[in-house]
Amino acid sequence: MQYNNLGCAGIKVSALSLGAWVTYGEQVDEDVTFKCMVAAYEAGVNFFDNAEAYGSGNGEIVMGNVIKKTGWKRSDLVISTKIFWGGDGPNDSGLSWKHIIEGTNAALKRLQMDYVDLIFCHRPDIETPIEETVRAMNHVINQGKAFYWGTSEWNADQIMEAYGIARREHLIPPVMEQPEYNMFKRQRIEREYIRLYKEIGLGTTIWSPLASGLLSGKYNQGIPSGSRFSLEGYDWLRKRLEGAEGQKNIEKVRQLSEIAKDLGCTTAQLAIAWCSKNPNVSTVITGASRPEQVDENMKALEVADLLSEDVLDRIENILDNKPKPLPNFR
Ligand code: NDP
Repeated sequence: MQYNNLGCAGIKVSALSLGAWVTYGEQVDEDVTFKCMVAAYEAGVNFFDNAEAYGSGNGEIVMGNVIKKTGWKRSDLVISTKIFWGGDGPNDSGLSWKHIIEGTNAALKRLQMDYVDLIFCHRPDIETPIEETVRAMNHVINQGKAFYWGTSEWNADQIMEAYGIARREHLIPPVMEQPEYNMFKRQRIEREYIRLYKEIGLGTTIWSPLASGLLSGKYNQGIPSGSRFSLEGYDWLRKRLEGAEGQKNIEKVRQLSEIAKDLGCTTAQLAIAWCSKNPNVSTVITGASRPEQVDENMKALEVADLLSEDVLDRIENILDNKPKPLPNFR
C-alpha cells in the first residue's frame, strides 16, 4: 500500500480506502462487513469512510463494532464521518452550529469513539452562513472531536469562501474535499478544483471510482441479481443505466474491458488504478459487498504501474470526455 498526505495536511491516508455507503449497515450483514474491512486492513487500508446518513446511522454502528472487535490500534486508523443528513426534524440536517455539534456527538457515540480523524460537511448548506459552519467545525476540532475538517461536493467558490473566512478569523481552514471522481465524472477533480490544489493545498478523498459498479463491467450484459443496481430503492441507478447516456457508457466499459484483458487485469482494477494515478487524488474510496471484491480492488495499485502514456491514450480515446478548460481558467 502507498500512503499519501491528505493535500497539505500532515495526516497520511492509504491510497485506496473503504467506505460504508449502501453496503455496510444496509445491504450486507455485520459478518460480511467484518470480512470486507479485515481484507482491506490486511491490504494496508488505514482509512475507513462513513457518514451520519449511511444506513441512517447503521453504517457507523457496524464499522464501529468491527473496529472494536478486531482490536485494531486507534492510532493506526483514519476514520471519517460526514454531517448533513442526520434525521427528519428541522434541526437534524444541514450545517448549522447546532446540527454540526449534535450530529458529531451522535456519530461518535455510534462509532464508539472519542474522535474521528476527518469530518466532512456532506453537502453545501445554502440556508446556513458559511461563517457559522466554519466556526462550528473549528469548535469541533478544538474540542478534540475531529482532527481535520473538509467538505463534500462543494464547488470551488464555496470552498474558497470557507477557506477565506477561516484565514481572516484565525480559525482552522478546511483541508480536504470528497467529490465523485471516476472515468465518467471528471470535471471537478480535473478542472474546477485545479487552483485549489495549488492555492490552499486541498486534498481529495474521491468516491464511486467504479460509478457504483458500472466500471467493473458487471453490467455489460444486464443487471445481475444482488448487485447494487438491482437493490430496492436504487431505481435511480437503473434508470440512469437504461437511458441513452448509460447505454453509451456501457459501450465504453465493454471497450475498456478489452484494455484490461490486454493488461491482464480486471476492468474494476483498471478503473480504480486510473483514478489513483491522478496526483491530486489523495485516496480512492472503494466500496465492496464481498471480501473477494476487496481483494481484487486492492491490487489496483499494481495495475496503476502498467498505465503507460500509450495505455492512458487508449483509455482517453474510448472515454472521449476530457474536461475542457473553464472559460476563465488560469
Ligand atoms: P464504487 O463506485 O467503487 O462502487 C462499489 C460497488 O461496486 C460495490 O459495493 C459493489 O456493489 C460493486 N463492486 C465493487 N468492486 C467490484 C468488483 N471488483 N467487481 C464487481 N463489482 C464490484 O464505490 P461506492 O459508490 O461504493 O463509493 C465508495 C465510497 O465512497 C462509499 O462507500 C462512501 O464511503 C463514499 N461515497 C461518498 C459520497 C459523498 O457524497 N461524499 C457519495 C457516495 C459514496 P455490488 O456488489 O453490490 O454490486
